[in-house]
Amino acid sequence: MNDAFYKHLLDEMYDGVYFVDRHRRILYWNGGAERLSGYSADEVTGRFCGDNLLRHIDECGRRLCTDMCPLAATIRDGQPRQAEVILHHKQGHRVPVLVRVTPIRDEHGEIIGAVEVFSDNSQQKAALEEIERLRQLALLDPLTGVGNRRFIESITHARLEELRRYGWPFGVVLADIDHFKAVNDTFGHLTGDEVLRMVARTLAYNVRAFDAVGRWGGEEFAIVVQNVSVGMLSVITERLRMLVEQSALSTNSATVRVTVSLGVAVARSDDTPLSLFDRADQMLYQSKQYGRNRVSVEEPSSDVEDGEIHTALSMHAALLSR
Ligand code: GH3
Ligand code: MG
Ligand code: MG
Repeated sequence: MNDAFYKHLLDEMYDGVYFVDRHRRILYWNGGAERLSGYSADEVTGRFCGDNLLRHIDECGRRLCTDMCPLAATIRDGQPRQAEVILHHKQGHRVPVLVRVTPIRDEHGEIIGAVEVFSDNSQQKAALEEIERLRQLALLDPLTGVGNRRFIESITHARLEELRRYGWPFGVVLADIDHFKAVNDTFGHLTGDEVLRMVARTLAYNVRAFDAVGRWGGEEFAIVVQNVSVGMLSVITERLRMLVEQSALSTNSATVRVTVSLGVAVARSDDTPLSLFDRADQMLYQSKQYGRNRVSVEEPSSDVEDGEIHTALSMHAALLSR
């Protein structure tokens, strides 16, 4: 079979596939890579993968391109590798992917480059089905493509019923973009809208399938996080804060980055959606007061008697006060 056949085969693959030479210059970029990253083959072929393109980071927000790049390591030692990384999409948001790297050798066994195969590690497929369902129920925010406030309120209502009936714990997070007015003033309202979409996508791509993300209003988003301890809730929220900070929208004239301040509240059995989000809002206000781009988690209430939860909370409060 000829080369064109194999190229066609690779292009049709659902996963992203690309080849780099020893210097990590991109030689080939398939259709799946275009779909997952938003960058076309024309835009990336001939460029270096560490070149301000995908800007892979790990779960902790560490940049991998310079000294921890799995491609570079495989080219160096010939060992195949697998890693969970978070790539930068052309639209600015962050997408979690599973990356597998294998060395490519010439006929003498010398390493001449590497191939990276990456697949969508987000709950995107389920999310797309969810978007269609929400659209039909008029629960979708048309600007950002995540649920609207009514959607979040109805999910919260359902979770509160479950908490009362079965004792399943959950929490809510409010995230407000910092100094967003300045983004509109500096770059214009349309770019402001793009930034809202970028933040919405970063949040939606990086929560678990059963958590819900919605636009609470203006430049504020709400997340309902299911079945978590206070400690987990803090960790999940801190990760989202980091991923928004690591998102970047490239316009013709500038790169626009924003941060978010977040407030977290843990549901109590006597809560209403209103009382629960009211406490999250107080925590959000605290994050703004303490300097923005941070997470505040409410103190445990008297009806949370679990000592373990209390310890986890103080630990995370200490961790998060940066
Ligand atoms: P803070 O850090 O205190 O939150 O400051 P801020 O500038 O983000 O807060 P403020 O409430 O002063 O401004 C929010 C801005 O968000 C003002 C409003 O024009 C803008 N905004 C609200 N909805 C939209 C929208 O749909 N699109 C755009 N582009 N801007 C919006
Ligand atoms: Mg606001
Ligand atoms: Mg704001």
